[in-house]
Amino acid sequence: MQLLFERSHPGRGMEYLPPCDTPPAVFDADMLRAQPPRLPELSEVDLDRHYTELSKQTHGVNDGFYPLGSCTMKYNPRVNEALAALPGFSELHPLQPAETAQGALEVLFRTEKLLCEITGMTGMTMQPAAGAHGEYTGLLLIRSYHKSRGDTARTKILVPDSAHGTNPASAAMAGFTVVSVPSNAQGGVDLDALKAAVGPDTAGLMLTNPNTLGLFDPNILEITRIVHEAGGLCYYDGANLNAVMGHARPGDMGFDCVHLNLHKTFSPPHGGGGPGSGPVGCKAFLEQFLPGPRVKYEDNRYSFFTPEHSLGRVRGFYGNFAVVVRALAYLLTLGRQGIPEAAENAVLNANYLMHKLAGHYDMACCENGCMHEFVMDLSRLKEETGVTAMDVAKRLLDFGIHPPTMYFPLIVHEALMVEPTETESVETLDHAADLFLQIWQEAHEQPDLVHGAPHTTPIGRPDEVTAARKPVVRYAFES
Ligand SMILES: *Cc1c(COP(=O)(O)O)cnc(C)c1O
Repeated sequence: MQLLFERSHPGRGMEYLPPCDTPPAVFDADMLRAQPPRLPELSEVDLDRHYTELSKQTHGVNDGFYPLGSCTMKYNPRVNEALAALPGFSELHPLQPAETAQGALEVLFRTEKLLCEITGMTGMTMQPAAGAHGEYTGLLLIRSYHKSRGDTARTKILVPDSAHGTNPASAAMAGFTVVSVPSNAQGGVDLDALKAAVGPDTAGLMLTNPNTLGLFDPNILEITRIVHEAGGLCYYDGANLNAVMGHARPGDMGFDCVHLNLHKTFSPPHGGGGPGSGPVGCKAFLEQFLPGPRVKYEDNRYSFFTPEHSLGRVRGFYGNFAVVVRALAYLLTLGRQGIPEAAENAVLNANYLMHKLAGHYDMACCENGCMHEFVMDLSRLKEETGVTAMDVAKRLLDFGIHPPTMYFPLIVHEALMVEPTETESVETLDHAADLFLQIWQEAHEQPDLVHGAPHTTPIGRPDEVTAARKPVVRYAFES
């Protein structure tokens, strides 16, 4: 497709603004650019068509099935957008006095209360802007706690090898040494290895549950007990809460703090780097360290306060407020009945699709069923046909399906991680299953067709390493 610079015609444009009738500001010559900026010259219709064309080159939940494992690409209800766009929310200034923004403070306060109830925590900060940012904040809480007790020898964070990749990265960023704990044959944490790893240098454990294999660790109470007995704290990566919300609470499993991904579990749109929200909740003994400002309600009014030993801000102002509005709208729409139902249907949909594929594709670890997602291991398909997980993922694009997450978790070699979410109908799941099985057949009968996929998209197989290492983000002018 043509870029804006390629659509440009000299002299074309939109002269909406009247001529300037105030004297122009005068700058010193050394502050002025030598040549005028090169801007594309376009009419409004040129511009409109460019962005419309661009929007059609991508794939969103609105286009079709999006089973991107670990990302919970559920449908984003439109009512949430309408509420987040209300001028009383969208036109607030972050520095206006709290008395004039009582509704916004109420949104933060009520969301915190509901999420504390869902997680079994007592207090929460809405500041972190994403899941990984929440992890980092939670680890700072753990650090503040040990430091406040003068317990400075606790420098290690235990991270099971089935954790999300952001976990070890966040622990390292927060200044801890990461100790990897292996999985057992069932895909859960190896308890003997955990017992051997804990000690007086253990600051805590970070656990993703359900883990990246889509499994709920049946030893969870034993895991938190072992870590607590050694003097460490337990951090719950709650980004996969979609599987258990309304049914099981991290607080009841013995965890001391948790982050949530509002943009996954509670439906605000995400992807492409769009705004997220990763609130961090904790038990009462950690609340004094939470970032400020938080919101309290006293004498019929909401106001901000900063906890006594706050670790400081982790982000400007109050986090991604509009994302929180959407999450609250979602929480109130679903209510006490709908929240656990959404989790049940997420788990049902994942199991339904997994069972439809299980006769052909090998599953990484799900003899007793999966939670909200499942991981296929395509090693055998690759051996038999030469078709890889990447090939299957690319072939799905030809049918308008977003590929599952590829080559993750790292403990499975030819991994495809599939998370259908609860918002997909049985027809969509049946259709997707038919396509997966068709691709299985193609892999055996015409592997080159699959190796060459996608055949229908504007871009097929970009060189991802070069794209990441040497991104071209500037238009290369001829002269
Ligand atoms: C998505 C995810 C994260 C990271 O969340 P971001 O918002 O992408 O930073 C962490 N843990 C798990 C299990 C996740 O699925």
